[in-house]
Amino acid sequence: MTSEIIPKQGDKIIKPEREIQLKNEIADELEIYKKYNEFGYELFDANGNKPISDEERKMMISQLEQKFKEVLDILRISRRIAKMLVNELLVGRFTKPPALTVFPNRKRVNNLIISQGIEVMSICSHHWLPISGTCTVAYIPGDYVIGLSKISRVVNWFARRPQIQEELGEQIADYLEELIKPQALGVVIKAKHYCMIARGVRGSEARSVMTTSVMRGLLMEEQSLRNEFVNLIQQ
Ligand SMILES: [Zn+2]
Repeated sequence: MTSEIIPKQGDKIIKPEREIQLKNEIADELEIYKKYNEFGYELFDANGNKPISDEERKMMISQLEQKFKEVLDILRISRRIAKMLVNELLVGRFTKPPALTVFPNRKRVNNLIISQGIEVMSICSHHWLPISGTCTVAYIPGDYVIGLSKISRVVNWFARRPQIQEELGEQIADYLEELIKPQALGVVIKAKHYCMIARGVRGSEARSVMTTSVMRGLLMEEQSLRNEFVNLIQQ
């Protein structure tokens, strides 16, 4: 052990006798970046996707139930939340993309197609509290069109993961762009973040509504088209 004084993150001075403890703390922090969980499964981004089998999902639920039981026991509560997380709130992490059919754009539709009010139910990956709001998707088709209900399924598949709203919009746009190769694409999400509301930050009710907007293709390039889009969704 050295007798150097080790500063930690600028504000605290750590005495030499705490060096070993500090090393342990750093090791704990590095644990965040480990590659596998304690059961040997590979970790991946909170809003990523890796489909798993029904059997693996069942196993995940029972592992979670065990862990939650330990936490809730400490809080002297008896509840079940594992199934809700695996099968509902986080289901987009573990399931294949929804089955989607795209159709040829036979009429050569060359105007905006807009789907508004698509429900967004998610949880924020920082605080694990709900994000609740709506999504608007607009596109001008290229060679393909897609059913509106299918767009809702895509939004839902990406939303039902621990999310960052900014990334959610980008993920939806990337996926739809790849799928139907539209001439223009817009994804606007307005959502309340309960991590702001629940913690009682003063005035947070209003501030907690976040709007994110992703514009691609002609919607990014042409100001007049973007204005038309914004006007249409404000009506
Ligand atoms: Zn949050």
